[in-house]
Amino acid sequence: MSIADNLSTVRERIANAAARAERSIDEVSLVAVSKTWPADIIAEAVDAGLCIFGENKVQEILEKVPVLPDHLQWHLIGHLQSNKIRKVLPLCAMIHSLDSLKLAQGVDRIAGELSLKPKVLLQVNVASDDAKFGFPVSEIENNFAELNSLPNLQIEGLMTVPPFDADPENVRPHFARLRELRDRLDSNLPHLSMGMSHDFEVAIEEGASLVRVGSSIFGKRDYSAQ
Ligand SMILES: *Cc1c(COP(=O)(O)O)cnc(C)c1O
Repeated sequence: MSIADNLSTVRERIANAAARAERSIDEVSLVAVSKTWPADIIAEAVDAGLCIFGENKVQEILEKVPVLPDHLQWHLIGHLQSNKIRKVLPLCAMIHSLDSLKLAQGVDRIAGELSLKPKVLLQVNVASDDAKFGFPVSEIENNFAELNSLPNLQIEGLMTVPPFDADPENVRPHFARLRELRDRLDSNLPHLSMGMSHDFEVAIEEGASLVRVGSSIFGKRDYSAQ
């Protein structure tokens, strides 16, 4: 299967999930997770019509941006180390993975120095999974006013990576919890970034506005090449 074929299947799955939830497909953007894939494969995805790409490592963004078209949007979806903020900020259309108050303060300070107003999402550990990054739910509720007062950040919503479960129905409550948290914090926050290849339909039914889909578009990743 080509990337174009995979993409049309993914788009059809998105459309069907949106229809089931009586949502417009315009409310759901596809972030193509291109981590580990080289620029020539990403170029194929661009030809197939994709323009938003998600990467979990700053280094990959630094390598790929200069060799791919300028109109693409790069979203950082993985943990950001503070010593990489300055390099990545000018290249990123959105950071999905602001996962602590300290990191948010660091991004805000450096954004101010660079005269940038980055769009960011707060990553929430909805399942209280020790293996995952993200604010615990209680912590985000306690810190939201302070996060919102950081002058250079445009906080656009919440993101989560729930623990893997082969049955997406078991993940549904985590997605619902993220939506409920958004509604409690500020129901005007436009974005919920949730759902990956195996569970994005359920995420859309629960209100996702950004789905992060890798292997269903590009195929199985090979980490051994890295
Ligand atoms: C890798 C990754 C994805 C995409 O996963 P697939 O199962 O390949 O769709 C989504 N979100 C994050 C944070 C990731 O690291």
